[in-house]
Amino acid sequence: MSGRPKPLPVLGDELSRTYWEAAAEGRLLLQRCRACGAYQHYPRGHCVRCFAPDPEWVEAAGSGRLHTFSIVQRTSDPSFEDDVPYAFGIVELDEGPRLAVNVVDTPLEELACDLPVSIVFTPAAGGIALPNATRKEAG
Ligand SMILES: [Zn+2]
Repeated sequence: MSGRPKPLPVLGDELSRTYWEAAAEGRLLLQRCRACGAYQHYPRGHCVRCFAPDPEWVEAAGSGRLHTFSIVQRTSDPSFEDDVPYAFGIVELDEGPRLAVNVVDTPLEELACDLPVSIVFTPAAGGIALPNATRKEAG
């Protein structure tokens, strides 16, 4: 291990704090519009489809498909040196929004677009837990 600290999310406002506190408990929250029902991520104070204020928080199913991915072979950030190669990807959640994640506990050679994945939470420093994706178990 390099021991260098990795960059972490900043819990700057009420919206991000709500999201990351749930993540620390292993729950993936999305927002759903009270007016039109649209889901959205990242959290905002209004619906991005119809501009209605104050979307409600709902817990996501925690599954989706790997929309796209890249296998990171080299990094310019020393705090990630011990992680390469690793997979970074975009997951399209069952609810629709897309989430940027690392794909963990999945052999890199098994990665493919549209791969069914589950969201898992990886503990990080400071009580933070990062949502990541892993290949969905069959059955
Ligand atoms: Zn709306």
